[in-house]
Amino acid sequence: MPRTTLTLPSPSPGTQRTLTVYRYGRPGARPKAYFQAALHADEFPALLVAQHLLRLLEAAEEAGTIDGEIVVVPVANPIGLGQHLHGHLLGRFDFEIGCNFNRQFPQLPSSAMLDRLLGRLSKDQQVNVARIRQIMLQTLAEQPRVRETDALKATLLSLSIDADLVFDLHCDSESLLHLYASRHHHEQAVILGAELGASPVLLEEQPGGATFDEANAGPWWRLREQLPGAETLPLACFSTTVEYRGQADVRDDYAEQDAARLYRYLQRCGVVAGDPGPLPELRCAPTPLEGVDVLVAPAAGLVVYRKALGDAVRRGEVVAELVDVLAPDPRAARQPIHSRTDGILFARMLEKLARPGQQLCKIAGAEPLPHRQLGQLLGD
Ligand SMILES: [Zn+2]
Repeated sequence: MPRTTLTLPSPSPGTQRTLTVYRYGRPGARPKAYFQAALHADEFPALLVAQHLLRLLEAAEEAGTIDGEIVVVPVANPIGLGQHLHGHLLGRFDFEIGCNFNRQFPQLPSSAMLDRLLGRLSKDQQVNVARIRQIMLQTLAEQPRVRETDALKATLLSLSIDADLVFDLHCDSESLLHLYASRHHHEQAVILGAELGASPVLLEEQPGGATFDEANAGPWWRLREQLPGAETLPLACFSTTVEYRGQADVRDDYAEQDAARLYRYLQRCGVVAGDPGPLPELRCAPTPLEGVDVLVAPAAGLVVYRKALGDAVRRGEVVAELVDVLAPDPRAARQPIHSRTDGILFARMLEKLARPGQQLCKIAGAEPLPHRQLGQLLGD
């Protein structure tokens, strides 16, 4: 079995966590695809999809049909998975410093990396891509890895940074299967979205937060902007975050189908041999991340939804009501929550008691919204 174990620094005497990595195909073969699941730890649908994918890849390896290289980290966040508090698993934020596990990844190129590349690009773009990947790996190897979480992030990125395709598998609170990708990769996102049956397909521009998907794809367009002579460099990594529905959607029938769809996408990209069949129709046109209306609770209260996941809503329509259970006049206890865009309701909060400012739901619209700010599109 092509399985290796990497050790993270011990956070306290007597405690040590590990990352388990599965590798398929010949090391160095292209295209290279990288998968990781549940960076926010308590994202069980993603864990199950990765497990089904491993079964398919084992069979492909036995059959000798893997043409590229595939690396899978089926449990991307063993730190978060250990964060139990009074019977609840809280995996989104690092208990130690409060940081979201999918934020503040090292964003290349660093100035040291730019220095290493200055004047070293050739006319052969394939040679340039290989050289840049090698320098990115070298630069990441120099990242500080003292704290356990820093070591986790640097290790994950070191496994993925030289890949052609990067899949970060997550889930939302309660949602449709949807995905995020950079607007630079519009075409790839459309094909992947169609293959996976995703809705919506959200295209990002300056999402902010230094997420894992941007840490992989971003160096290529930033090099174009920052390195003299790199203006025509290929964008050599397509990276995406796939949200496998909601936290409660842990089902074998879903996960088996989802893994088969990822596998067909690998066939379509030439990572695995075989005919993926015709591409399914895309369920929706891609929409901009700055067109997502994130509705928040204006006060504390119980949330009662008036719209279901997948419903088309109009601007001004009531999506939910917030119920003040201690209203002085119980007949006036309900506050309507209105959509500020035309779009599809694709994610809702699973908990039903909101605190003021808490995110309630998300609606994907086609038009950028004035209240959405580039660089701050993801919240926390
Ligand atoms: Zn997540």
